[in-house]
Amino acid sequence: HVDINAVTKGRVDDYYTVGRELGRGTFSIVKEGTHKPSQKRYAVKIIDKKYVDKDDLVLLTREIDIMKQVAHKNVLSLHEIFETENDISLVIELVTGGELFFKIVEQGSYSEVDAAGIVSQILDGVQHLHDKGIAHRDLKPENLLCSGEHPNMTIKIADFGLSKIFAGGQKLETSCGTPDYAAPEVLLGEKAYDKSVDLWSIGVISYVLLCGYPPFYAQSQPALFEKIIQANYDFPEAEWSSISPTAKDFVRRLLVIRPSERMTVEQCLAHDFMRGGAGSNTLKV
Ligand code: ADP
Ligand code: MG
Repeated sequence: HVDINAVTKGRVDDYYTVGRELGRGTFSIVKEGTHKPSQKRYAVKIIDKKYVDKDDLVLLTREIDIMKQVAHKNVLSLHEIFETENDISLVIELVTGGELFFKIVEQGSYSEVDAAGIVSQILDGVQHLHDKGIAHRDLKPENLLCSGEHPNMTIKIADFGLSKIFAGGQKLETSCGTPDYAAPEVLLGEKAYDKSVDLWSIGVISYVLLCGYPPFYAQSQPALFEKIIQANYDFPEAEWSSISPTAKDFVRRLLVIRPSERMTVEQCLAHDFMRGGAGSNTLKV
């Protein structure tokens, strides 16, 4: 059994009509669910226990604990939990807009101002997590879901599988995350790192949102690794010549090797890029 309190008695099907599949994760299937009494729609993340080993169960319990603590419009919220002999079902706030990047591609053209608006929502959500002593540690496009349509699109941060709560000044200690968006200290497996890992990821996400490709790219994993730990990237003229110096400065202050020299969430929110300094030019993504 997962050690969680607040598990609703019974089966998810007793209370919800479980419908079409919305997506799949590493050890879960996410389906649409309609609450029978209220007809409200949710996402039901069904985790088959036979695929969950001891370590995953620890991650999962952590994800649940974290989701229970958060309440912010830019962070997915957990509604209720069911557990049976075979599976665990999480009833989560439903997000219908899909993953962020698909949404942008669908939209066709968008501007630096739009990109800044998206980054600002990610920052608001991350600020809420950091204020609660939670580092997400796996911020990347597929964990950024969208609700509503442009220009009223709301970004929802999802997937807390890798998040960890840090108590006070205590540092996080497990190395994990997808290499493309992972900070140098994470890849180096450094003993101690903290919430500044999320700011590196936000730097990578901002870069991609501005030009359509990632800052670090290589043919092999070791070569990619090298580039990231040296913060070896540039702003290719073809796309970046028309991007504002303010936007470049924002990215530059996040893709910094030393965590202590990276902007914090507060510094990001006070940066000119977040405060009207973004260009109105159309971006090629
Ligand atoms: P895992 O932790 O196993 O990686 P995720 O939480 O990332 O699982 O969910 C897997 C996929 O399911 C997501 O990438 C997304 O496409 C979809 N999904 C997850 N949560 C929701 C939600 N609340 N609303 C709509 N779709 C969702
Ligand atoms: Mg995921």
